Amino acid sequence: MAKESGNGDVLAIGIDLGTTYSCVGAWKDDRIEIIPYDQGNRTTPSCVAFNDSQRLVGDGAKNQSLINSANTIFDFFRLIGRSFNDPQVQQDLKLWPFKVTGGLGDTPTIVVSYKGQKKEFSAEEISSMILAKMKESAETYLGSDVKNAVVTVPAYFNDSQRQATKDAGTIAGLNIVRMINEPTAAAMANGLNNKSTIRGKINVVVFDLGGGTFDVSVMTVEKGDIFEVKGVAGDTHLGGEDFDNLMVEHCVNEFKRKSKFDLTGNKKALGRLRFACEKAKRVLSSTTQTSIDLECLHEGIDFSMRFTRTKFEELNSSFFKKCIKTVENCLNDTNMKKSCVDEIILVGGSTRIPKAQQMLQDFFDGKQLCKTVNPDEAVGYGAAVLAAKLSGTGNKSVQNMVLLDVTPLSLGIETKGTKFDVVIPRNTPIPRSNAKNYVTSYDNQTAITIEVYQGERSKSTDNHFLGKFIIDGIPAAPKGVSSIKVYFEIDANGILTVAAGVLATGKKEKITIDNERRRCWRIGRLSKDDIEKMIREAEEYKYEDTEFNKKANAHNELEDHLYELRNKIEEKNVKKKVSAEMLKDMENAIADTTKWLEDNHDAPLSELELKMVQLKFVCKLAI
Ligand code: AMP
Repeated sequence: MAKESGNGDVLAIGIDLGTTYSCVGAWKDDRIEIIPYDQGNRTTPSCVAFNDSQRLVGDGAKNQSLINSANTIFDFFRLIGRSFNDPQVQQDLKLWPFKVTGGLGDTPTIVVSYKGQKKEFSAEEISSMILAKMKESAETYLGSDVKNAVVTVPAYFNDSQRQATKDAGTIAGLNIVRMINEPTAAAMANGLNNKSTIRGKINVVVFDLGGGTFDVSVMTVEKGDIFEVKGVAGDTHLGGEDFDNLMVEHCVNEFKRKSKFDLTGNKKALGRLRFACEKAKRVLSSTTQTSIDLECLHEGIDFSMRFTRTKFEELNSSFFKKCIKTVENCLNDTNMKKSCVDEIILVGGSTRIPKAQQMLQDFFDGKQLCKTVNPDEAVGYGAAVLAAKLSGTGNKSVQNMVLLDVTPLSLGIETKGTKFDVVIPRNTPIPRSNAKNYVTSYDNQTAITIEVYQGERSKSTDNHFLGKFIIDGIPAAPKGVSSIKVYFEIDANGILTVAAGVLATGKKEKITIDNERRRCWRIGRLSKDDIEKMIREAEEYKYEDTEFNKKANAHNELEDHLYELRNKIEEKNVKKKVSAEMLKDMENAIADTTKWLEDNHDAPLSELELKMVQLKFVCKLAI
């Protein structure tokens, strides 16, 4: 398929890849369209499931989660760019009904049973399945191939998490032209929609509390055109899922108190409880109490309890306080007084929680919160705006938009005594390059190991380790004489590249910095080979899905045809038109095929097609 021409050009789509829901948008007919999925919804659950016959992505996966919880994967975005032994990963594992093990290099590996066989996936691969689904929905809706995308990430994502998200895009067959921070995307959506009302330069705070992550951005917006991020803060592990978890824990304790049974080992019961708690949480945003009722939850015992909004708020009060403290810190970091904030934009499904809104409003001394953007779609909308700008398809308002973002966390290297030495401080505008000189720390040192970290702690190992390499070929000299230069470069996506060179007697030398004789070292987790293998596998899964759908369609068509024929032979004129013998043949063919279909749920496509041809032949002769 070729790309459309004229005003309908779509060269890039915008994708909000969220922990709980994902959303895709594109510029079409002179405006942004949020693209509906196959079931008509404008957001799709970030959920992938495997069973004995097929792989399901989105609503289909979520709908069957209660009967296939061990093979239904959600929340996987919380694994991306993290190691298996990360304490937060270990904590999450306890409440997930699916299995995650430590793979090569301590990467988390999701283990499922697919078509009766054990299969292992990385978080990048599962994420790529969601991205591929969004690409497909966009292609169907727009009627053209989609190759490029702008993908959003939580502002507080570190380099590994950004790199892993980019890898997921590559596996899905998408060229990620830009990664944009979620709150910045939401501010762009708001800016475009309220352009006429924004006069001069205003100070904006975006409060983005979603399913898995929390972000705050402080920015200025000039005439709805120039979006300059001043600072970001957040927590990549705080959101609606955590509120659900505390509710689940509370119910588990309540069940234990009433029945003396501990249901924590019962994955199915935990899955049902989580589902019910999430539903109850949403209800509590509009009413002050609700109940959770589950029949035969564990050991044949029913569970029923009243849940009040007050209880919910009490359980999660430390999370809400943390959110407000983060807003305060971010304002302090950017030297902005809260009285100078003109607009507070709410983004993310969890901002519907009344307590979160009330605490935020109280913090800003009663200032009205801006709820004009759709909290579920604003991020996807903003991503689509940037996609339209970068691909040159948007209108003048879109083309005039300028985006200036920052890096969320400081980047630097480990120096003597595990000290973290910052090369690029947090909240530095990106893209950005910085270089720093370092000297040898002992006599005749000819090689130095450069260990790169990201974070705000003084001790390097308290920060997030990104990778390391050795720089050798340093001329032997007393300590502190020979020096090297380390170059850090962050691109517009917030992804870091590190290089180094030896400076000897004032003359700059370019040297190789690792065993593979590369001068420049890109930090990433999946190797090129890994990604290529995953791309091939993604193609195989796509092929299998297509084959499965063809088979399911053939099955449905045969079933529908049998139904039509059964009705037809009841009609009087048909009975009159055909001989008794022919009618018998027809009835036999219908009965045989119906029985065959019941006994052969897994019949291959060729057999289903053959049965259809045979049925049509007999019945055509008869009618
Ligand atoms: P997002 O990541 O922005 O899609 O937000 C998803 C999160 O918002 C999930 O944890 C949902 O349970 C939560 N959510 C959605 N609607 C509500 C609501 N009415 N009240 C409380 N939480 C909600």
